[in-house]
Amino acid sequence: MNSARKSQLVFFLAGLLIGRIVNAEVDVLFTTGNIYTVNDHQPHAEAIAVKDGRIVFVGSNDDAKKFHAVKILDLRGRTVMPGFTDSHCHIFGIGEREMRLNLEGTNSREDFLARVKERVDKTGPGKWITGRGWIETFWKPPQFPTRQDLDKIATDNPVFLTRADGHASIANSAALKIAGIGKNTRDPFGGQILKKNGEPNGMLLDKAQDLVARNIHKPTAGEREEALLRGIDREIKLGWCEIQNAGSYKEDIDIIQKAFETGKIKIRFINAVYGPGTDAQNFLRAGPTISAFDHHFTKRTIKVLFDGALGSRGAALLKPYSDAPETSGLLREKPEDLRAMFEEALRRGIQVETHALGDRANRLILDLYEQAFKAVPADERKIHEPRWRIEHAQIVDPDDIPRFAKLGVIPSMQPSHAISDLFFAQARLGMDRLVGAYAWQSFLKSGSIIAGGSDAPVERGEPMIEFYAAVARKSIKGESGEAWHPEQAVSREEALKMFTIWPAYAAFEEKDKGSIEIGKLADFTVLSQDIMKIPEAGILETRNEMTVIGGELVYPR
Ligand SMILES: [Zn+2]
Repeated sequence: MNSARKSQLVFFLAGLLIGRIVNAEVDVLFTTGNIYTVNDHQPHAEAIAVKDGRIVFVGSNDDAKKFHAVKILDLRGRTVMPGFTDSHCHIFGIGEREMRLNLEGTNSREDFLARVKERVDKTGPGKWITGRGWIETFWKPPQFPTRQDLDKIATDNPVFLTRADGHASIANSAALKIAGIGKNTRDPFGGQILKKNGEPNGMLLDKAQDLVARNIHKPTAGEREEALLRGIDREIKLGWCEIQNAGSYKEDIDIIQKAFETGKIKIRFINAVYGPGTDAQNFLRAGPTISAFDHHFTKRTIKVLFDGALGSRGAALLKPYSDAPETSGLLREKPEDLRAMFEEALRRGIQVETHALGDRANRLILDLYEQAFKAVPADERKIHEPRWRIEHAQIVDPDDIPRFAKLGVIPSMQPSHAISDLFFAQARLGMDRLVGAYAWQSFLKSGSIIAGGSDAPVERGEPMIEFYAAVARKSIKGESGEAWHPEQAVSREEALKMFTIWPAYAAFEEKDKGSIEIGKLADFTVLSQDIMKIPEAGILETRNEMTVIGGELVYPR
C-alpha cells in the first residue's frame, strides 16, 4: 500500500471512530465516582457508561464527556464497587426470619424466654409457635435452653424454636408429645435427641429436628412466595446484586421460577437444589439452566449437607469435642449414597457444593470429590473444570488445606461465622485445632480463591459485617484474642475479591460479572464511605446507598 492510500485509510478509520464517539448514545452515564474496578489493568476510575445493561466505557470524567446519555447519574464522590455477591445464603429463611418470631440478638436466657412469652400471650391455645435466631453462646451460662424452661411459659401451645444456625431446635413438652418423642425414642440417622437422666430435654440436633418439624403446618405456596420476595427485598437494600442460594427443594424452585416469569425478581440468582434425592435425580436428568431471564437465573448446582454445625456439636470431627469427649459430631449422609450422584454430575455438567464444617467432614468430602474426578476423567465430563465447592470449610486439618487448590475445589466461606464462633470455638476444639479454623489466609496462600458469603439467616447477612469480619477478624465490638488467629485476616483487596470476582468465578460467571470492565454486566454497589481506606470500625457504619443491576437503579427506587 502506498503512503497516500495509507493516510487515506487512517483518515477514514479515524473518521469512523470519531463519528461513533460523537454520536455515542448510551443509556446511563455514571460520573464523579470513586470507582474500584477489581480490574488489575485499570484499578480505579471516575465514570462508567452503560448500554443495554452492559458496561461500554470505564474511565475518567473528562473522557466520559463524549457520550450522549439518556440518563446521567452524578455519584458525588461516592464509592462504587462491582456488584456484591453473597455466595452462600438461604433466601427463603431470610424472608421467613422477618415473618416469624425473630429471636436474633437474644442476649440472655431471660430475654429469650420473655420474647417467647410475649408471643405465647398473643397466640390462641393449641396453636404452634415457631421462630428462629437464638444463640446461647452469649448467655450466662452459655447453655442450651430446655423443654422445662419453655414449659413454664407455654403449656397449651407447642413451641419449636430453631437456633440461628438451623442445625438445632428446642421444643417444649407439648411439641415433643405431638411428635411422639419420649425416653425410648431412638436417634434418627444424622440427628440426635439430647437427653438428661434418660428423658429428652427438648433439644433436637440436625435430622432429629424433622421429627417435630413434620408436624407443623407447612407454609402455603403464597407464604413461601412472600418469604422469597421479602428476603430479596432486604438483600437488594443491603447492596447485594447477586445471591447464591445454598439449597432448595422443587416446590421452592417452582416458586422462584414463577416469580421470575411474572417479573417480580430483579436480583441475580444462582440456585442449588438439595441432593441426594428425587429432586436432584430429576435435576440431573433435566440438566442445568444457565443465565435465564436475561442473565438473572441459573440452576447448575446440587447442594449436599454433609455434617452439622459447630455450636450444636454436629460438625464431624476427626477427634472428639474438647468440651464433650463422648461425641465427635455426625455425618448426615453416607458416602456410598453420594458416589453415583457425583459421577453423574460430572458427566452432566452439574456443579456440586457440599456443606462440610468439621475436619472429618472436609477430609471425607475431598476424598469423595477426588474419587469422582478420577472415575470420570476430564474428557468424559461435560465441563472439564468442574469448580466444585465446599461450603464453610470451617475446621480443616492443615494437611488438607492445599488439597483444595490441587483439586480445583473452591472453599466457600463466611467471615461472620469466624467472629461469631471464635467466642466458643476454643471450648469445642481446644487451641491446636484452631490453626485450621476459618483459615482464610492459609487457603489463599495455598493457591485457593475464596467465595465469600454470609450464610444468612444463620448470620445477619450484611455485606459490611462480612467485609469487616474478613479484614478485622474481630468481634463487632472489637474483641479478639490469641485463639482468634489474627494472622488469618485478609487484606481489603482480598476481601473485595471475596464478594465480587471470586464468587463470579465460583459460579462460572467471571466473563460477565465480578469486575467493572467493558463488556461486563453493569452491576454496582454504591457505598456511603470508602471502605478501602477508612479505619476498620468505620466499615460497620458504612451504608449501601445504591444498588445497580444491569444499569438499572433497583435501590433506592
Ligand atoms: Zn448455609
